[in-house]
Amino acid sequence: MPKAPALIGKLAETFVGRRARVLRTDRIAPDFLEVEFRADPPAGGWQPGHEVQVRATPTEGRRYNVRTVEASDRITILAVLHGDGPGARWLQRLHPGAETTLLAGRHVPLRLGGTRRLFIGDGSALGTLDAYASADVHAPAVVIETPSASVDQLRSRWPRYRFVPALADDPGATIRAWLDETLSREDRVEVDGALLLGHAQSIQGQRQALVSAGILDRRAITTRPYWATGRTGL
Ligand SMILES: Cc1cc2nc3c(=O)[nH]c(=O)nc-3n(C[C@H](O)[C@H](O)[C@H](O)COP(=O)(O)OP(=O)(O)OC[C@H]3O[C@@H](n4cnc5c(N)ncnc54)[C@H](O)[C@@H]3O)c2cc1C
Repeated sequence: MPKAPALIGKLAETFVGRRARVLRTDRIAPDFLEVEFRADPPAGGWQPGHEVQVRATPTEGRRYNVRTVEASDRITILAVLHGDGPGARWLQRLHPGAETTLLAGRHVPLRLGGTRRLFIGDGSALGTLDAYASADVHAPAVVIETPSASVDQLRSRWPRYRFVPALADDPGATIRAWLDETLSREDRVEVDGALLLGHAQSIQGQRQALVSAGILDRRAITTRPYWATGRTGL
């Protein structure tokens, strides 16, 4: 429901809306905001990776994912701050004590192929990738492209993940260069599954590179676009 009449948004809120209060906002890096909510749990309870939607305006919905579940009614999301779209403005308005509504149904986890996995994404996917990587006993390789000003702080916080700086106005270019270089190496690490999240056009290129290099079958690759050049609110 990226754009819907206010009445539809109100109806969705009635059926799947969870009352939420902001407990904490934390700028963990220049471009990243972590928000902790106390929020009524949906059926089945909150899960890491749970998809939530917010009514950023009465007619515009935006999606975010739960990164961590701290208690049955305490969750965090992690958002990359970019531009001044409705979602970005909704995030900037949050402050401790603020009341809001999170739209969420029962959690439907992403289906992942293989066990030796490669996770790739951009800043919009960091929270989701961390949720899935933290639950994955096989310790996947995680590569994330983020705004360059945030790279150092994110590396300190998540030393196990590889953070690469995004080029201004060319999303996905640094990851693509890393992927091409990695795929051409003799001693490359073999993987049998991949999760690609974030910028739609970049994901297409990454999947194509993995398949045409003979590394993975398309069915072993899970994709989920989170935003796209030329689009608002996927
Ligand atoms: C299932 C799902 C889960 C998601 N989970 C998260 C999450 O946990 N954390 C998170 O930060 N994001 C997440 N996103 C992405 C987020 O919903 C989008 O980035 C959304 O477009 C932001 O809304 P906005 O109103 O700020 O920008 P919009 O109004 O949608 O877009 C305004 C402009 O900004 C561009 N744009 C949109 N997103 C980005 C971006 N990330 N980087 C650079 N340019 C962008 C658009 O192409 C457009 O030109 C998720 C998306 C989906 C579909």
